Order: sequence, then C-alpha cells, then structure tokens
Amino acid sequence: MRLLENKTALITGGSRGIGEGIALKFAEQGASIAFTYLSSDEKARALEAKLESLGVKAKGYKSDAGIYAAAEQLANDVVKEFGTIDICVNNAGISRDNLLLRLTQEQWDEVIQANLKSVYNLTKQVIRPMMKARSGSIINLSSIVGIKGNGGQSAYAASKAGIIGFTKSIAQEIGSRNIRCNAIAPGFIETDMTHYLKDGGAEKWFEKIPLGRFGKTEDVANAALYLASDMSLYVTGQVISVCGGMNT
Ligand code: NAP
Repeated sequence: MRLLENKTALITGGSRGIGEGIALKFAEQGASIAFTYLSSDEKARALEAKLESLGVKAKGYKSDAGIYAAAEQLANDVVKEFGTIDICVNNAGISRDNLLLRLTQEQWDEVIQANLKSVYNLTKQVIRPMMKARSGSIINLSSIVGIKGNGGQSAYAASKAGIIGFTKSIAQEIGSRNIRCNAIAPGFIETDMTHYLKDGGAEKWFEKIPLGRFGKTEDVANAALYLASDMSLYVTGQVISVCGGMNT
C-alpha cells in the first residue's frame, strides 16, 4: 500500500525545484496532484505529463500565491476538479537578497507577499474542505534562515520566521479538527533559487554543513512525505530542519 493512496495534494510553486520534487514524490506514493506556478507554462505542462505517467491525476494551475482572491479561486477550482484537498503544501517562494541599507520597500513588500501572505491566503481556503473531511495536513516551507537569520536576507528571513509563528498558531487552532500544520526548514538545497550562490559565496555555507553536501530536492520531499502521510498522525506545530545539520 502506497503512503498517499486516495489523497489529493495541492502544492504551490510546483513547476520547479522543491515543489516539483514534492509533487513527484507524492505522486509516486499514489496521491492526485494539483500544483501551481506563476509563469513557467512549459515546465508546468511537462510536469503534468510526468505525473500522469506515474498513474495519478494531475493538473497545473497558473495562480499567484500572493493574491488572496486567486487563492480563493484556486481552492474552489481544485475541490471542483479533485473532490477535496487532503494535503496542502505552501511551497511557493522568492528571495530578493539585499543589505537593509539598500533594501527597497518594494523588495520588502514583494517578499512578504509572495512568501508569507501566500501562506495565510491558501491555508485559510484549504481548512474549509479539511474541516468538512475532519482531517488534513498542511505543510509550510520555512527555512533555517527563518530560525537563525542571515545578513543580507532580512526580508526573506522575516517572511520565513513569520511562517513558523503562523504554523504553530494554526496547529493550535485546528488540532481539535484533526488537521495538522507543520513546517519544514530547509538549509541549502540545490535549486534555481540557490544556483547563483554556488558561483560565489557557496563555500561559506558548505563549510557549515556537517553532512558535507548541499541538499537535494528529494531530501526535502522525503520530509514532506512523512508530514503528509499517516506516519506523522501525532505530529503538529513542529518545524523539521532538513539542512544536513547546519541548524545544530
Ligand atoms: P525555486 O526553484 O525558485 O522555485 C520557486 C517555485 O515557486 C516555482 O515553481 C515558481 O513558479 C513558484 N512561485 C514563485 N512565486 C510564486 C507566486 N507568487 N505564485 C505562485 N508560484 C510562485 O525555489 P525553491 O528553491 O524550490 O524553493 C521552494 C521553497 O522552499 C521556497 O518557499 C523557498 O523559500 C524554500 N526554501 C528553499 C531553500 C533552498 O535552498 N532552495 C532553502 C530554504 C527554503 P514559476 O516557475 O512559474 O516561477
């Protein structure tokens, strides 16, 4: 028996990187997959085909995670198409790294909207079908930067720290309805988001990783699978660091 048989997962930012890794991992375990993206139409169509080739129902939705009305529309569309939402992964995110002296209001707002408001937007929508089903698992992508901070990433770190406070509060609000809410705090995972660091300052991170390597999207997807599945039925309000020991 696969771990996510008969479940529907909604994953934001599924067209690339960690979101794509989670979509593939969940599909391998039997879940139907609804995923979102912002502009990568071709990658989204390719992922739909890949997921379908694994024998599951899959659909990509172009939907801006930072816009409340878009999240409302998305949740309605997914419930209409898939019947319910059992698992929600708030993964969509961006980084706009800059020292505070140079960080503009626009950059601050952009990061907070895409990374933090997005989590409010969609969580508020998915708890309705989950309450009806009296079960659900919400997984939010934070970062170890949200725990430790990082010079040059104040907006990003604030958004990721905000996700942790939100996750713990929501876990307390909806635990009695058998809906769980947890966060994953990845370290340095090899994706487009971190690609530019590998050309420059990657070494300073690398030296701080006890397991001696950068993370792969599959490392994060494995933690997401645990939190999505019944393997973690007694786990809520927690932050799991997937960072090769960086946050120790
Ligand atoms: P990525 O490779 O840059 O991919 C980002 C994904 O999010 C893409 O699918 C992108 O869609 C989507 N997206 C961005 N803004 C969106 C919006 N407003 N609405 C809908 N979709 C949007 O990023 P990643 O490295 O996989 O990161 C995924 C999550 O993990 C993020 O929340 C990130 O902060 C977190 N994280 C990553 C790392 C790391 O080392 N990579 C570490 C800690 C935490 P398009 O393809 O259409 O642009």
